[in-house]
Amino acid sequence: MVPGVRYDRIDDAGLHITVDGESTVLEVDTIVLCTGQEPRRGLYEELIAAGRPAHLIGGADVAAELDAKRAVKQGTELAAAL
Ligand SMILES: Cc1cc2nc3c(=O)[nH]c(=O)nc-3n(C[C@H](O)[C@H](O)[C@H](O)COP(=O)(O)OP(=O)(O)OC[C@H]3O[C@@H](n4cnc5c(N)ncnc54)[C@H](O)[C@@H]3O)c2cc1C
Repeated sequence: MVPGVRYDRIDDAGLHITVDGESTVLEVDTIVLCTGQEPRRGLYEELIAAGRPAHLIGGADVAAELDAKRAVKQGTELAAAL
């Protein structure tokens, strides 16, 4: 893991990054982008449509980025309320 990275570009040489103002190239063959999330609510919507009780929390509620604490909080509060 490299903190404080700016991703500059991807080309045949690899992944160009800047760390602390210094440019460098990571000579990689494969780059996996984890740059976004979307909630999948299919099961929730099916349950609600069938008239079954269902609750939406965590990543299924809002798939934001660094929000695991919110997911845990929602799960804890819902469990306590049930
Ligand atoms: C690449 C990446 C990096 C992240 N980094 C951070 C970070 O550094 N800090 C941070 O706070 N958050 C981070 N997050 C966000 C964090 O992962 C989420 O906020 C959190 O995991 C949401 O928790 P959750 O329990 O709602 O969902 P999840 O953790 O996604 O758990 C849902 C679970 O339900 C299971 N499931 C799905 N459908 C069904 C089904 N039909 N039946 C049974 N089980 C099912 C899934 O397999 C999964 O195990 C990151 C997310 C990603 C994708």
